[in-house]
Amino acid sequence: MKAEIIAIGSELTTGAKLDTNSQWLSIELASIGIPVHFHQTVADELDVLAEIIRIASERSDLILITGGLGPTLDDLTREAIAQFMNAELELHEPSLEFIENLFASFNRTMPDRNKIQAMFPKGSKPLNNPRGTAPGIWVDWKEGDRNVIIAAMPGVPSEMKMMFRKELLPGLPAGNNVIKIHRVNCFGLGESPAEEMLGELTARGREPEVGITVHHATITLRIASSGKSEKECETAIKETKNNINEILGSYVFGEEDEELQDIVVSLLNQKEMTLSTAEFGTGGLISHLITEVKNYDQCFSGGLVIPKLSSRIPFLEDLPIEKELDPEKELESGSQQRTAEMVARSCKEHFQSDFSIAIIEVSESSESKVEGKPDAYISLVGPDISISKKHYYVGDPAIRKIRAAKTALNLLRLHLLGFLSFENQ
Ligand code: AMP
Ligand code: MG
Repeated sequence: MKAEIIAIGSELTTGAKLDTNSQWLSIELASIGIPVHFHQTVADELDVLAEIIRIASERSDLILITGGLGPTLDDLTREAIAQFMNAELELHEPSLEFIENLFASFNRTMPDRNKIQAMFPKGSKPLNNPRGTAPGIWVDWKEGDRNVIIAAMPGVPSEMKMMFRKELLPGLPAGNNVIKIHRVNCFGLGESPAEEMLGELTARGREPEVGITVHHATITLRIASSGKSEKECETAIKETKNNINEILGSYVFGEEDEELQDIVVSLLNQKEMTLSTAEFGTGGLISHLITEVKNYDQCFSGGLVIPKLSSRIPFLEDLPIEKELDPEKELESGSQQRTAEMVARSCKEHFQSDFSIAIIEVSESSESKVEGKPDAYISLVGPDISISKKHYYVGDPAIRKIRAAKTALNLLRLHLLGFLSFENQ
């Protein structure tokens, strides 16, 4: 059984709103073993809508439509379905009564225009909408010798979800296979090297299939398994996951929705250790990421956002270490790497934390960039570690801050897991 989703609304095609309904429905259908082969997004135009439904009916067995069922003139889904079916719209009395009662319960009389929501293409069935005024439409269609189900639901996500689960799902034929998805998250390598290392694991058509996506420098491997039962899928996923872990080792940091900061906070809390941060050029991004995690207050001692790297940083002046090294001179002599380490030490002292991360983000525009000059310096100091790393950007400069912040978090993760040595790099 092949499914197709049509999202209707000019607010979607103009870019004013994002179509989240198709994403949600695809995930729901996959979980009951119905693969979705097409998404279409269409403006509120009657002829185009009818044509799009016709195209879908020729290639798909289940067509789910969302949007365009409201009472206003731009809501044309029912008319489009009627035009596609070559059927008249007819009044469905119980639906009219339901809508009138709904208005009465708000002490309002139903505007005339809402009557259209009780009109259905002849030969279709209404789908109850417990959350709003627009009932859905269900059509059992015959395309040659194929049975095609067409179901239209409201665009409002909460109404659509309720209708799908309560009214639509029980009426759908079960898919042949169960589909399960599992995500493995990696950091520290690019998409192409990851693909190269994984070799045949990423081959198209493999079972389970492994897809690679990248978001803000985090690589996600999406393992999609299709099988006769959930158990069969889970076994196949586990085996592929083990293969991935063997190949990518410490590049793998988590699963599903886990982010680097989740892992770092959890490792620090397990070890009952604390962290402070000093950030120049990232606007406090590392502290922001950490403070998004539950129970971060157990391990996070504090963070500094440094606007200017000079001896005027008050906490540096107050510390004995300031006499040893002058951050400004360090900058002039081009050894920001040492400066980063010094800032990390001062920060650690200031917050009395076990670890401290300092980051100096010095990226310039690509025109003024001196060849070979690092874009950031990241230092991590702690009980068994004193490391200062040069960091170079590869790829999109728009994500440079988040990439640098994640590199710093990853450094601490690797150290906490025992993967790092002492030396500077
Ligand atoms: P409609 O059913 O077309 O009147 O849509 C009602 C509202 O639901 C719209 O104004 C959007 O805010 C929202 N909506 C419609 N379609 C979608 C969609 N595909 N994804 C997310 N929201 C949607
Ligand atoms: Mg609409």
